[in-house]
Amino acid sequence: MSNFFQVVVDRDASEPQAVFLADRVLEWLKVEQIVEATPTACVLGLDDMGYAPGCQMENWLDPRDDGQDTRRMKVNGLELITKKTVFWSVSTDYKAECPHGHAHTPPEGWLALAGEWFDATGPALMECPTCHDSFSVTEWTFGHSFAFGYLGFQFWNWPPYLSQRLVDEVARLVAPHRVALVYSKL
Ligand SMILES: [Zn+2]
Repeated sequence: MSNFFQVVVDRDASEPQAVFLADRVLEWLKVEQIVEATPTACVLGLDDMGYAPGCQMENWLDPRDDGQDTRRMKVNGLELITKKTVFWSVSTDYKAECPHGHAHTPPEGWLALAGEWFDATGPALMECPTCHDSFSVTEWTFGHSFAFGYLGFQFWNWPPYLSQRLVDEVARLVAPHRVALVYSKL
């Protein structure tokens, strides 16, 4: 069975803020018993250590999902990502929206800009065909396909999609930062 992940990305946290904010959100998730307090081998991250579903997970899911499929899986935890990351899905149907709200299919080769941002080799600017302003690729929004940042809460094999209520709570804890939800199958 393939694995599925969803990441709540803080688009504005700096590298130094990422660890602090990750702790703040993790503490809240533990207090609410949405995740277990002690890390175990339940994700597909670097060291496989994450936080398995807590006893209250179901209360934070879409009501139509009982969470049992997630609980049965070995990979079902929360992974904290606190380093510079291009969060992306394997979708090929990308839509990009400039900060002024103009939606476009990004130009061929735009993925090189993600690399430019990640490697810090240039300004990674993408021009909007409508307003002709250029914005850093990190300022464009890409629906659930892409987001850029230093902080991500990656939920492995939790039911699609994380409830708006859960995403809103994470957003509240990192406010006034903007958050994005990226999801993908592996
Ligand atoms: Zn525009």
